[in-house]
Amino acid sequence: MITNLSYDCDVLIIGAGPAGCTAATILAEEKGRKVIVLEKEHFPRYHVGESLIPHCWDTLDRLGMTDRLDEKGFQVKQSVQFVDEGGELSTPFYFSEHTDHPRAKTWQVDRETFDTMMMERAREAGAQVREGIKVLDFIEQDGVVVGVRAEDEAGKGFELRAPVTMDASGRDALFQRKKKWRKRDPKLNKIAIWTLYKGAKRDPGVDEGATTVAYVKGKGWFWNIPLKDDIVSTGIVAERDYLYRDGRDLAEIYEREIKENKWVEEHLSEGQQFGEYWVTGEYSYRAENCATDGLVLIGDAFAFLDPVFSSGVYLALTTGSLGADAVEQALVSGNTGSEQFADYGERVCQGIEWMRKLVYAFYDKDFSFKDVVMKYAEIRRDLTDCLIGDLIDKDYTELFDRVSEFAELPSELPHGKVASSGALA
Ligand SMILES: Cc1cc2nc3c(=O)[nH]c(=O)nc-3n(C[C@H](O)[C@H](O)[C@H](O)COP(=O)(O)OP(=O)(O)OC[C@H]3O[C@@H](n4cnc5c(N)ncnc54)[C@H](O)[C@@H]3O)c2cc1C
Repeated sequence: MITNLSYDCDVLIIGAGPAGCTAATILAEEKGRKVIVLEKEHFPRYHVGESLIPHCWDTLDRLGMTDRLDEKGFQVKQSVQFVDEGGELSTPFYFSEHTDHPRAKTWQVDRETFDTMMMERAREAGAQVREGIKVLDFIEQDGVVVGVRAEDEAGKGFELRAPVTMDASGRDALFQRKKKWRKRDPKLNKIAIWTLYKGAKRDPGVDEGATTVAYVKGKGWFWNIPLKDDIVSTGIVAERDYLYRDGRDLAEIYEREIKENKWVEEHLSEGQQFGEYWVTGEYSYRAENCATDGLVLIGDAFAFLDPVFSSGVYLALTTGSLGADAVEQALVSGNTGSEQFADYGERVCQGIEWMRKLVYAFYDKDFSFKDVVMKYAEIRRDLTDCLIGDLIDKDYTELFDRVSEFAELPSELPHGKVASSGALA
């Protein structure tokens, strides 16, 4: 920590998404820190990424959010189901068959509401959350990040300083871009096109809130996420060349692809598309480093993994929580050098690597979860634990030794360590 500076707060957080608000709530309420969060948008605002996984519960419970989510009336999600290329539904996977913990019921959340609840929670915890403030750049002194330059909506610029800054700016990934730290995944580079429907067909009973993954012949997959108010989030993920083969009109591409899977066609034809079609590339990446002196990266601002298993919000909550613990330790020790975040980076990267292996297996055309479990019944529990997000401080070596007999798995990426200026060593 550079001691002769005058600081505006203990921790500055860029971005009030799930990662930023998790960190803000923990640091302000549990640790009693003075926290300022800067958010460029005004909430509620649209955001993709509605399907939660069971282990989101752990951090949401730490934040005191689980009862609030129950009360809000979000669509409850109790299962995941897969539909093959021919439109045939396989037996859904029910979380309650694996665990009788409250996390066996999770939620499909419209992010306007969920993110606003998270922001309100951070404010209630004592964090100062300032909307309509865009962070433009970082202030560095001898290579140590000591604050940010920002501007309000009138274009008025100002500076804020803190011993630690947390970059939670999502896929904008401010620090990662500034330092050219973004490392794309060598293989997971798909694009996604998605939109919303109202009144689409919903499966009955316990399956009403299921996330459905429906394959498109050899090319990609659809997601179908039922939300409250009879709305469905639906999207397709595939190779760029495949989706853009006849042009770039997103609505036309979407209409064309719906016909590629009978289940999707049947479910969506009962409903009405509304609002925009969105598209995104840069589908999987990680920053070369998870931290430098005075700064740590959390959520999508650190790493983004193809969301086929809905791991994004889970990783945002988890990195927000573990990142906050690491920041607190650094502040208590009086040393906010990057080494303080080495353990955080290692644990998070290992967790991401387990899920990344599953994503690679999913895209391997010869792979099926059923085949592995048929041959090695004893791995079912580990496989399920991994899929529902029990990723931190776990050892799934045996599971992936078995899976590697059926799919080509990636070696671990070297990125995600800590950078250091040497100024605080
Ligand atoms: C197509 C697609 C489908 C997905 N589906 C799922 C899913 O089903 N389930 C799931 O769990 N995840 C899913 N995800 C991933 C999920 O959306 C993200 O992982 C999650 O939102 C990350 O949270 P975050 O807090 O890191 O970032 P965000 O939620 O993006 O929040 C970052 C915040 O930072 C703010 N910000 C950015 N730049 C600045 C700046 N300069 N100054 C101030 N504020 C700034 C932004 O306005 C934003 O509010 C999906 C992602 C994509 C692309």
